[in-house]
Amino acid sequence: MQIDIITEKEIAELKTLISDANKIILVGHKSPDGDAIGACLGFAEYLRQQGKSPSVFVPDAYPDFLKWLPGTEKIVRYDKHKVEIDAAFKNADLIFFLDFNDAARLEDMQESIDASSAKKVVVDHHLNPVIDSVITISHPEACSTCELVFRIIYQLSGIENMTRKIAVPIYCGMMTDTGGFTYNSARPEIYSIIGLLLTVGIDKDKIYRNVFNNYSPWAIKLRGYLMSQKLNVLDEYHASYFTVSRQDMKNYHFIKGDLEGLVNEPLRIKGHKFSISLREDDRHDNTVLVSLRSVDDFPCNKVSEEFFNGGGHLNASGGKLHCSLAEAETIARNAIIKFGDMLKA
Ligand code: 5GP
Ligand code: MN
Repeated sequence: MQIDIITEKEIAELKTLISDANKIILVGHKSPDGDAIGACLGFAEYLRQQGKSPSVFVPDAYPDFLKWLPGTEKIVRYDKHKVEIDAAFKNADLIFFLDFNDAARLEDMQESIDASSAKKVVVDHHLNPVIDSVITISHPEACSTCELVFRIIYQLSGIENMTRKIAVPIYCGMMTDTGGFTYNSARPEIYSIIGLLLTVGIDKDKIYRNVFNNYSPWAIKLRGYLMSQKLNVLDEYHASYFTVSRQDMKNYHFIKGDLEGLVNEPLRIKGHKFSISLREDDRHDNTVLVSLRSVDDFPCNKVSEEFFNGGGHLNASGGKLHCSLAEAETIARNAIIKFGDMLKA
């Protein structure tokens, strides 16, 4: 396995930056997922082990199914602690941007960071990063940012310094960003890394259960309701979309994370290539959150860029619309039809 994909120069520069920095901050993107949270927690724990006292800041809430991860109690949310975080950025020496390629994904927190003179390092696996930084460790071929965090720690300090507390969040992010290693996870090196993480003593089956088998009865009923009543399958296009209204969420006592991964469910239909989820934002009016998933070479990031103001990976992307749910349905239908030739093939 080739683990050393981060260049010697990058590793040497990282080493110096970390050892010179007094105040280090790690940030994840808005609506942080398992990869963003895993990367922040794993890397923060490594830095702690190196004698640093890093802070972890995210723009807003992360899903409940990640709360069990060691260290989540130290994550500070910008939507709840703006003043404290603004002050911390002003005094920071070094900021790590983990799991996003565009500072716009920090929303309000972006301005706060722009006012900081700290050096910035990007570690990410999305295409074409556009963040101004002193080092950008960008590997779109990586399954997750957590995979890159593993490699960085491994190259900086070797497997001997990989404790369970570092390994658990890293495995969690690799697992969640690949749907439990069912997509974007065919590179053999991923399994060599998992092999190393297992030697550190992670319980991979327990991590799986903690994340994926952690629903409330209401969440299971909501998911069943949406698939039975709200799924629109466009058979000839091997594609589908479903909508989730505020009323649906209210009826089923929705909490963040309840719908995680549901967009993958329609892909279980034989021959299905493309699935779109359209969910009304429960806090902002006239806003629809969009998730897209595809199989093989159908580019849902292209669809997201063209129709949903977003982007992401080939087989997993997201976006946002400022319109009603009914209008969003029309846009989803038009998107499927526009890409019809590829879908019908
Ligand atoms: P999800 O459907 O889980 O929200 O997002 C799937 C993937 O798409 C994630 O890996 C995320 O990085 C990417 N993504 C989600 N929303 C956006 C967006 O608004 N812009 C871009 N460029 N990528 C997004
Ligand atoms: Mn990711």
